Amino acid sequence: MSLSAVDLAAELIRFDTINPPGQEAACTENLARLLTGAGFQCETVPLDEGRPNLIARIGGTGDKPPIAFTGHTDTVPLGAQTWTVAPHGGMVKDGRVWGRGASDMKSGVAAFVVAALEYAARFEGTPGVVLYITAGEETGSEGAFALARRGMRGQAGALVVAEPTTNRPLCGHKGALWLKATTRGVTAHAREGR
Ligand SMILES: [Zn+2]
Repeated sequence: MSLSAVDLAAELIRFDTINPPGQEAACTENLARLLTGAGFQCETVPLDEGRPNLIARIGGTGDKPPIAFTGHTDTVPLGAQTWTVAPHGGMVKDGRVWGRGASDMKSGVAAFVVAALEYAARFEGTPGVVLYITAGEETGSEGAFALARRGMRGQAGALVVAEPTTNRPLCGHKGALWLKATTRGVTAHAREGR
């Protein structure tokens, strides 16, 4: 029986990839094994020790750019609230997948990986598919920056980002504005003064 997206999402949640520190290696290697087994060419590009980005390709005619999918393997921390389920248990209950990263975004990664695996045999002679699975997204997209710095952005006819958007496809990106501020003055406590 083929792997379902729900099963793979649950499996990915069982890897603790909380960022910081990330530790995405085991999760990413698991995906690379699956994709390699289905005929994808997999290349890992390290962001840091134990923090690989994964690029997986299949098909490609050379005259048209492939469709690309992207997602990240790291998650945000658990937060201060007490969890009612094991955050890395990968539980499936009441028709939902539970755990840290279930929404953002191990389910999204699982969905496009399972779809790519299912169609793997049909990409020959087509523009093909490229999957960009990055590390270190939650703290400033360092994984994607590491790929860009190495000139590995490549070409794509379209890029599908598997971030959660309440099951509605959205076009575009909210973007990012990075500011660096320098202030001058005297250090003081906020309660001082009259
Ligand atoms: Zn995300």
